[in-house]
Amino acid sequence: MIKNLAANILRGRKCVYCSNYGLYRLADRRVKCRKCRRVYSLKKLQRDVEILHYFCLELSASKTAKALELDYETVYSRYMFFRRKIIQYQNNSFRKLSGELEIDETYFGGKRKGKRGRGAFNKVVVFGVLERNGKVYTTVVPDVSAETLMTEIKDKTEKGSVYYTDCFKSYKSLKRYGKHCRINKEHAFAKGRTHINGIEGFWSFAKERFYKYHGISKDNYYLYLKEMEFRFNHRNSDLFKKMFKIIYSDFGTDLP
Ligand SMILES: [Zn+2]
Repeated sequence: MIKNLAANILRGRKCVYCSNYGLYRLADRRVKCRKCRRVYSLKKLQRDVEILHYFCLELSASKTAKALELDYETVYSRYMFFRRKIIQYQNNSFRKLSGELEIDETYFGGKRKGKRGRGAFNKVVVFGVLERNGKVYTTVVPDVSAETLMTEIKDKTEKGSVYYTDCFKSYKSLKRYGKHCRINKEHAFAKGRTHINGIEGFWSFAKERFYKYHGISKDNYYLYLKEMEFRFNHRNSDLFKKMFKIIYSDFGTDLP
């Protein structure tokens, strides 16, 4: 797959950064692009593309290191770099969500079960909005107060949208911002369009993947969360193709 997609790039015919055909070899065997004038090593590019390929397949850094006979540290640092680029891409391409929106918060990490306060010690609080037939947006928040959640909603969604939430008190003032449909799960009112199954589906999608990473440090949660958001939003497209463009063409990233 890598070979088909990037054959001309990996063979040094086409520039990885600007897609121009017209590279020449330097004495040290690196290549230089006649158009954008950038210089790089095809060998390093090949290696990086292989790491990216395994990243897209969700192989862990340690498995990828084994498969490619590389140091774990080398692979891990590239994985973290890819995650930072994903966030940069998401920030650059962000537009406010609108239409029918499902809103919810949840806790990640920690050993004890529990929601909203009880047992939430040592957990990361995550807030999410899912646009039906569209994308999901997630972020780590300091708490689940009305002030925190409403600030997120105002920043990330269009006023006048239709909001679906559960009966949590922090969403009480949402009706002043759009149409607010509350779901009372205990009374099994979650029927028809009134549900938040979409965002709950995303939480399962992300938690299942988080489970594979044993002990993500609290500081890195945001990076992993945004990676899950990206994977979810592109689950029906060619992830490698998308990532290839993000890593090299869009940002003109230097190879390690
Ligand atoms: Zn170029």
